[in-house]
Amino acid sequence: MGMRPSREEVEELLRKGKRIDGRGLLDPRPISMEVGVVERAEGSAIVSMGKTRVLCVVRGPMECVPSHLADPERAILDVAYRMATFSTEERKSPSPSRREIELSKVIREALEPAIFLEEYPRMMIRVYCLVLQADGGTRTASINAASLALAYAGIQMQDLVASVAVGYYDGKILVDLNAAEDDLCADIPMAMMPAHNKITLLQADHIFPVDRIDEIIKVGVMTMRRIYELQRDALKKKYVEVAKSVG
Ligand code: ADP
Repeated sequence: MGMRPSREEVEELLRKGKRIDGRGLLDPRPISMEVGVVERAEGSAIVSMGKTRVLCVVRGPMECVPSHLADPERAILDVAYRMATFSTEERKSPSPSRREIELSKVIREALEPAIFLEEYPRMMIRVYCLVLQADGGTRTASINAASLALAYAGIQMQDLVASVAVGYYDGKILVDLNAAEDDLCADIPMAMMPAHNKITLLQADHIFPVDRIDEIIKVGVMTMRRIYELQRDALKKKYVEVAKSVG
């Protein structure tokens, strides 16, 4: 992955409105998406946003285990976000951290509004997000991958969910932070259902001026609409392949 740039380097560039990887302030990192990458699972997808790379696998709908957790009205959505031990510069401990448990909940809450859970009473849908390589925005890449994997699994949804983090630093708004920028900037991860024009996640850490929030959301929404197009392309590409293979 090479040497991580120093805080000072990133800071100096950002003050001039430039970014360490040469992107414009409003440019997301190169994004790639592929669905149907794990054959055994009902749904799967792999999403890269720059150096951040996440594999998501969906199993189910299946019988709820343990059965006492079953909800007679709707399916339980079980989300597990984990960082692989090899996903970071220093080996990540394999035991789930507080952060991983919290992010599992954050990702679940960003996805739930899009899924018709009431179509699957007493069932369970399991979503596994495994970070293969972490360089900022792992929750947003996880949400993008999970919504693709759910759609590919044929789970009934009202919309896909697209996600990106917007940053704020020294008066400037920037899109899709890498880890070096994440350390420095206010970080505002968000997710939305683009066809329904509804936000399903909006978080913020560090401080930023409240009168910039409209602009921050606008920039995020613009980017998430682009990501949504890429998600649709990834699904279409796989269906065309499948259609060809069955003649
Ligand atoms: P997100 O990945 O959604 O941006 P955070 O803001 O918590 O979530 O993390 C930012 C980045 O910090 C991660 O993408 C990753 O590159 C790095 N990071 C997080 N946790 C660890 C860890 N335990 N070890 C090394 N790097 C980490």
